[in-house]
Amino acid sequence: MNLHLYDTFTRTTLPIFASDSKQFRFYCCGPTVYGPAHIGNFRTFTIQDVFRRVLKVAGLNPFHVRNITDVDDKTIRGSISAGMTLAAFTQKWADKFHADCSALNMLVPDVEPSAVTHIPEQIEMIEGLVKNGNAYVTVDGSVYFKVSSFADYGRLARLDRDALRTQETNSASTRNLADEYERDTVADFALWKAVKSEDADNFWDSPWGRGRPGWHIECSAMSRKHLGDTFDLHGGGIDLIFPHHENEIAQSRSFTGLDVFARHWFHCAHLMVEGQKMSKSLGNLYTLDQLREKGITPTALRYTLMNGHYRQPLNFTFNSLHASQSALEKLEKEILKLLANEKLTHKDWPQFVDNVPVGFFSADDAPFKSAWNKLLDDLNVPGCLGALFSEMPFEKNNTHAGYRMLQGLGAIVFALGLQLFQNADVTVTVPDAIIALAKARWDAKQARDWQTSDRLRKELTDAGWQVKDKKEGYDILPL
Ligand SMILES: [Zn+2]
Repeated sequence: MNLHLYDTFTRTTLPIFASDSKQFRFYCCGPTVYGPAHIGNFRTFTIQDVFRRVLKVAGLNPFHVRNITDVDDKTIRGSISAGMTLAAFTQKWADKFHADCSALNMLVPDVEPSAVTHIPEQIEMIEGLVKNGNAYVTVDGSVYFKVSSFADYGRLARLDRDALRTQETNSASTRNLADEYERDTVADFALWKAVKSEDADNFWDSPWGRGRPGWHIECSAMSRKHLGDTFDLHGGGIDLIFPHHENEIAQSRSFTGLDVFARHWFHCAHLMVEGQKMSKSLGNLYTLDQLREKGITPTALRYTLMNGHYRQPLNFTFNSLHASQSALEKLEKEILKLLANEKLTHKDWPQFVDNVPVGFFSADDAPFKSAWNKLLDDLNVPGCLGALFSEMPFEKNNTHAGYRMLQGLGAIVFALGLQLFQNADVTVTVPDAIIALAKARWDAKQARDWQTSDRLRKELTDAGWQVKDKKEGYDILPL
């Protein structure tokens, strides 16, 4: 079984492969650094991180580019009200974003370009678009992309072509200066914005005068620089399909003259909070720090954010966070039992996660293959977790040798990016029912009722526990 993923452009599930058969090269739209990222942003970044990890375990050799938007209306406004330079302000929030990503155990992208450090590349592209007749300069020195010049405009978002044409005839000169707008207000969009008084000294020189790039052109320019004119996959949140990704396609393909920009489009659905849309006014745009203050670990948050299929909206609740925390503890206990059998402890666990053999699951008899296959099938993380937990207790339900099971679990846990055993003094908590069984067995033994004592010992073994008799009393240990 090979990795398959839903493609937004064709609305079908397609096989994932590296077009140059060496590296799977992909681009994800990164954060705009003007404040702390919220859990909705992190859902998308977590899913992309799982995707990258699955590529790695599957032997597809990922090369991941994710940008930082460090110039736009929001960053400029924020830096001015904070009394900071744009560079200092965006650096502060980029640092915070990186710290949060690290707490959530996300791998660092191979390249993380920023808009401000790619101004010449953006100007070069805009010049090309003007030259090709896809863009025009207005009297104030702004440059707009002419939507009607690109016949395929609207194909990703499936905009109604006829409605677009009518709109154009009715309002031939409409232009959208804003970076974000609704699909019923399709209009020519800004590639270069002439400087305005509210921009203060945040401007760059260009062939059209002082100004700054529009938001959409940065991703076209940076993906081209770091991945080439065509690459394997482009990802982002579902809200980026229109207008951002539609505009990226129009810019890039008009510039290169090629039929394909990204071969595959990967979008992650919205996050809801306690059944409601996330919004500033509802105060539910939670940040990682706010959840930490409530005692939630980053690993439990990560688990919660990916434990819903990425194509479905996920309803984030505090109950689900607590359920994640218990599920993680259950998984840790199961792993501890396997480790104990190999005379290992939780300190030995990282070796199984950090050294996952590439192609581990290509062996027909690899343990936990059913869980892995769920990930290959359109990145079904909840399905993977369901398959994993259905095999518990692992010792009882799995015929593989303990060490090999640990390798399989290490590969799955790496793919999911779960940091286990964060609590250094983690110990096995013996369930009350097991304590009662062990006590009953001890009492039977003291009464020389060997038959009952043997039966109870077997019950304990079946449940994954063993008792070791001492001179005085006994110990209960995981099998
Ligand atoms: Zn982008």
